[in-house]
Amino acid sequence: MEYVDRGQIRIWACCAAVWLLLAPQAIAQKPRKYIQWRQRDRLKIKKILKHVKEHEGEFHVRTERYKIRTQVDAAFTAQLGYYMDHLCKDFLRIFKYPIRVQLRPTVYILKDQEAYQEALGKETESRGMFRYRWKGSEWTDFTLYSYIKHPHETDFRCFYLPILNHEGTHQIVQMQAGKNTVHIFLNEGLATYCQFMRIGERDPDARNRRSCFLRLAVQANQENRLPSLESFVHLDGPWDVDGYGPQTNLRYGCAESFVAFLVESRAGQKFLARIYEAALAGQSLESSFGGNTRPIEASWRRYLGELKARGID
Ligand SMILES: [Zn+2]
Repeated sequence: MEYVDRGQIRIWACCAAVWLLLAPQAIAQKPRKYIQWRQRDRLKIKKILKHVKEHEGEFHVRTERYKIRTQVDAAFTAQLGYYMDHLCKDFLRIFKYPIRVQLRPTVYILKDQEAYQEALGKETESRGMFRYRWKGSEWTDFTLYSYIKHPHETDFRCFYLPILNHEGTHQIVQMQAGKNTVHIFLNEGLATYCQFMRIGERDPDARNRRSCFLRLAVQANQENRLPSLESFVHLDGPWDVDGYGPQTNLRYGCAESFVAFLVESRAGQKFLARIYEAALAGQSLESSFGGNTRPIEASWRRYLGELKARGID
């Protein structure tokens, strides 16, 4: 697969529980393709397509890792399945931890916002959501929901992929965490980091430049108004504090940049592996930092300063 880059994706991701809004600016004037398939991809998608079944206006297929359900068409359904499998494998290449949730997660794309809200049973302006429910002795829901916002999105290549990356990451994290809860700062950090990541991409600054949140943290750091790491580690309230306004957007920038900072060095990767592993095992973020966030906070701030020098501002 090959991504199509046409400058910055302008979005605001929003997810206390896990959701994301499109900024009005992001409503493209003309259809934008996020991805292009190569011959090899097309052959594999064709194989999946053979297994897509239609039932009462919905299309279903089981891929290697997912249950795909859409109200779009068979071609969209097959491509979505192929993309999700790749997304999951890419995440698991970095975070090689066992999957605790023994079911195939579902990705469900509704035909429009009305159908999406009906499926969720609530009015919401979110663009997508990962919802999981444990009831009695089983998962009654473990689904990434999203919908076709613009008619051109029925062509999967034009579908808003960052929502699949963001919510798809929350879904994989939960697959690994089982019934445990990964602290919101780490969870949002991973999801927002992956939101701007492209499968197989190795250049960190290509990812960094695509993010609309990272620059908020860079700027806040420069102006000495970056929230402390301590405040995040102890965060116990909701993620959204101002209706997904500037404060919450800065939170995304902090969480994302913290993960980016760790991913970009070998020592950071080790530390990230340690805190993620602890979180998956149900330990608090506080305890995995060993009660002292100061040394790592100083390095994180230095990293944000360097980002500015690298042209991310
Ligand atoms: Zn999120």
